[in-house]
Amino acid sequence: MRAVRLVQIGKWLQEQDVAVPGIDVSDVLIRVAAAGICHSDAHYRAGISKIDRLPLILGHEIAGRVEKVGSDVTHLSAGDRVCVHYLVHCGSCEFCVRGLEQFCRSGEMIGKHRDGGYAEFIRVPGANAFPLPDEIPFEVGAIMMCSSATALHALSKARFKPGESIAIFGFGGLGFSALQLSRAFDCRDVYVVEINPAKLASAAKMGAIAIDARAADPVEQIKESTAGRGVDVALELIGSAKTMRQAVLCLGSLGRAALVGLTGESISIHPYTELINREAEIIGVSDHLATEIPALIEFARSGKLRFLPETLCVVGLDAAQINGALDALQDSIDHVRTVIVSEL
Ligand SMILES: [Zn+2]
Ligand SMILES: [Zn+2]
Repeated sequence: MRAVRLVQIGKWLQEQDVAVPGIDVSDVLIRVAAAGICHSDAHYRAGISKIDRLPLILGHEIAGRVEKVGSDVTHLSAGDRVCVHYLVHCGSCEFCVRGLEQFCRSGEMIGKHRDGGYAEFIRVPGANAFPLPDEIPFEVGAIMMCSSATALHALSKARFKPGESIAIFGFGGLGFSALQLSRAFDCRDVYVVEINPAKLASAAKMGAIAIDARAADPVEQIKESTAGRGVDVALELIGSAKTMRQAVLCLGSLGRAALVGLTGESISIHPYTELINREAEIIGVSDHLATEIPALIEFARSGKLRFLPETLCVVGLDAAQINGALDALQDSIDHVRTVIVSEL
């Protein structure tokens, strides 16, 4: 089969001919229809995130059709449309038995620790393949399995409830999904904090209150707009100490700040005035869980989570096009997602 592999860190991915993977009794073989090109793939190629084994087929945002099913897999048949949960877990360690597979002792991420979806076929454990309803295009089925799934997990970690207000810091792929999912939860006001005028405009068009962080302190703007109360939940999706602090400071009493963006920086907090006095919480968010995928699929099936065609850029399973898309991601984080689409 054709596969586009990372052969050497810091170099362009290469198109290579490799064997179609064989499957175990608990696996399925999927003919890949769509594979999202993610910002983390650009980090793997550049060596910013460490890859243990090379060569490696990248790609962790995958949807396609089941080609072959192992004898132990009972929930799928050949020809079924599926999307893939990217965390492969053992199912038996102390975390897996509690449904917390993102901490699995022997967990592997598809497209990082094992071969991913920049290929004609991929082998995954049957437990990682979820039926994809016909209403959801393969491209959407693929890209929602990363940033949308993590946005949903962040809302769940923040215990976001109907009628609550939310501030979303950063309007890239995560923010784009977080805004739509917040509205699907029947939220009150959604504030989107950004510095990019185009992103502020598209957030406003989607019903958010756009907060231009260049114009004035976003915390002051949110406080003013909420008559001094602050918001119930803040999601930090950028990964900067400055916006993490702002996410905490814009909370009202009993507010929860969920930190999703990654940074090596420290943040300083004044415990009494900023947390204790308000019983506010800071919550870390990492990846998402298999148990959350069915709800995510239902949001997409019912049209509450949408990626309109103009927010997607389509390329073929072609090394030059994929490398070009990864180059573009190194320069900017856009909510326009690039997806590799193969004719099925
Ligand atoms: Zn991703
Ligand atoms: Zn485990």
